[in-house]
Amino acid sequence: MVAIGLVFHAFFFLSRIFLTFYLDDNKTLLEGGSGSTWVMLEISVFIFWSTISFAMLTNLVLQNNLKKLADRDPLTNLLNRRAVFEECQKLVEEEKGTSISVLVLDLDYFKQINDNYGHAIGDKALQHFAQIVSEEAPLKNLFGRTGGEEFILALPNSDVQQAERKANYICDKVRNTLLVIDEQEIHFTVSIGIANATLKNSADLRKLINDADKAMYSAKRNGRDQVAVYNVELVFNELHKT
Ligand code: GH3
Ligand code: MG
Ligand code: MG
Repeated sequence: MVAIGLVFHAFFFLSRIFLTFYLDDNKTLLEGGSGSTWVMLEISVFIFWSTISFAMLTNLVLQNNLKKLADRDPLTNLLNRRAVFEECQKLVEEEKGTSISVLVLDLDYFKQINDNYGHAIGDKALQHFAQIVSEEAPLKNLFGRTGGEEFILALPNSDVQQAERKANYICDKVRNTLLVIDEQEIHFTVSIGIANATLKNSADLRKLINDADKAMYSAKRNGRDQVAVYNVELVFNELHKT
């Protein structure tokens, strides 16, 4: 709307200059001439149009900023649980029938990191972890922080083997990273659960995330710092453990 207003305004004044020079020799542009009423009218319309356009533009910018604030986790700047779920939902609706893998990642014994080094260093460790996984996320809008030290990463067009390779890579990288923060050496690990499915709707998506969560808890129970895939075998083993 702003652009239309400016173009129309420029066009009007160029045409006025043209008319002043070629058709209305006796009067200058400021003195008016045959079109002066039109000039006043156009200026009034332009001011009115500009005011409305700028109000709408400001509203749009504010709305965008509010949405960013509502969608993002302030510590890591990743999407939060609701926003990442919405992004996954969009993907399911756009690409029905594609194989999607979901990774649920939960840092191991993170409470101890806070207890041993303090909350501020725990925060930095979370940011560092977010950075490591972000580098492995093919689509940044499908990686989010779903809770305190829990994250989710969706991999579209990815089968179980590809997802497992990526999860193991992340697991190894986190394990082999020695973080030095404020002269303190921090070492931590992550447990990752994977589930894979061809999704048709949001209900399928919820189940898929749930399954990946179950797999993550299985990785925890089996000793942490590892990857577990949700499948019949895992369900069977979990059933016979309890
Ligand atoms: P597990 O291996 O079973 O996952 O153990 P855990 O200690 O990681 O799990 P638990 O759920 O007992 O504790 C999670 C901890 O994560 C507790 C909380 O202090 C910490 N945490 C959650 N959110 C934040 C955060 O934003 N910053 C910091 N520094 N710590 C956080
Ligand atoms: Mg944890
Ligand atoms: Mg947790």
